[in-house]
Amino acid sequence: MTDAEQQDWFGQFAPGHGVHRAPPPKAEGPRDGIVFRRSPTARNYRLSLGRDGVAVATIPVRGSMREAERFVERNRTWLERARERQRSRPRAADVWTLGTRVLWRGDLAEIRRATDGERPSVCLGADVFRVPRLEDDLRPALHARFIRLAKVELPARAWELAATTRMNVTRVTVRDQRSRWGSCTAAGVVSLNWRLILTPESVRDYIILHELMHLREMNHSRRFWACVGEVFPAWREAEAWIKRNAGYTGL
Ligand SMILES: [Zn+2]
Repeated sequence: MTDAEQQDWFGQFAPGHGVHRAPPPKAEGPRDGIVFRRSPTARNYRLSLGRDGVAVATIPVRGSMREAERFVERNRTWLERARERQRSRPRAADVWTLGTRVLWRGDLAEIRRATDGERPSVCLGADVFRVPRLEDDLRPALHARFIRLAKVELPARAWELAATTRMNVTRVTVRDQRSRWGSCTAAGVVSLNWRLILTPESVRDYIILHELMHLREMNHSRRFWACVGEVFPAWREAEAWIKRNAGYTGL
């Protein structure tokens, strides 16, 4: 039980499969923008679209290339829609300057020059952040400030919610995860993505509670979602927000 881990991915879509781990890369050549990979652990055919726009079709242990191609054919409409969603997803600006609107605590906030103080600083909503120089790309400096704040705020909230739901959490870490919002081990270690500080509080709470409920159910079964529904009835709205806005968070 101790090495079981539930990972919550975002940015990969698989029809009919809630969770999956990335298969070890064993490419069988791209066709039609799709890479076929044989996986020694997969039990089902799977199609996923990566953040890089490459679609990967996984062939299970006993599967065949021919069957994989049929599977891809059956899911072609899904793949086209997923590609469309990826194209139309909002993206965060690459370079941040005064006037850039960025996602901050659930709102698109304009980076403004802070009026007081002699050191260069900017306001985002009600928060003020010091930056090295107002003329530079502000993104690296602000990211560093966000992460520092997230490392204080997110564990505090996680411990609070662990207490109210009586879940046995042993450690909370905040990380720069590239493709998921959080994860949870059976030993009670909860890892949260620092980007949860960019989302509305309700979405942050949902992700934390989602991870905590994995301590009851280490999967995405019907029983798991029932647990989530008990502690966070509006989880569908939170999931919808994540789908619409993930591009702004850099995930
Ligand atoms: Zn999950």
